[in-house]
Amino acid sequence: MSVRDWRYCGKCHVMFYDGNPEKGACPTGGGHEAVGYMFVLPNDVPGTPTAQTDWRRCGRCAVMFYDGYPAKGVCPGGGGHVASGKHYVPPHDVAGTPTAQSDWRYCGNCQAMFYDGYAEKGACPAGGGHSAIGYNFVLPHLADPRAPVRID
Ligand SMILES: [Zn+2]
Ligand SMILES: [Zn+2]
Ligand SMILES: [Zn+2]
Repeated sequence: MSVRDWRYCGKCHVMFYDGNPEKGACPTGGGHEAVGYMFVLPNDVPGTPTAQTDWRRCGRCAVMFYDGYPAKGVCPGGGGHVASGKHYVPPHDVAGTPTAQSDWRYCGNCQAMFYDGYAEKGACPAGGGHSAIGYNFVLPHLADPRAPVRID
């Protein structure tokens, strides 16, 4: 069982839930802006040595954040993140595939899931760019039928 509509925000580089008309709160201003793959993230399954529990959607800013600590990070909507909806169990430290993207990391400053594959680290609501700590998450996504054909 899984849920679609998780997307990468091209403005602040986090994973956010794009399935609602409201696009949350982006630290760069306005709502988050979906770019690239449509992710399909495992939820409500047991954790394993290579899949971490306690990832939730923030009901205020719409990002995916780690809810396993007493502190709830920094929410661009104000205060800490507020857990809402399903319990996600993202895979980590496994091989990437054509339909699973590696280099997704936990930000030690705001506690959001962000994409660390670019030199530029996005916009962290705690200030500066996001700061990667811990596991290397490998997130499943649909093969994008709209992706342009690459001609090498
Ligand atoms: Zn954003
Ligand atoms: Zn939040
Ligand atoms: Zn951050």
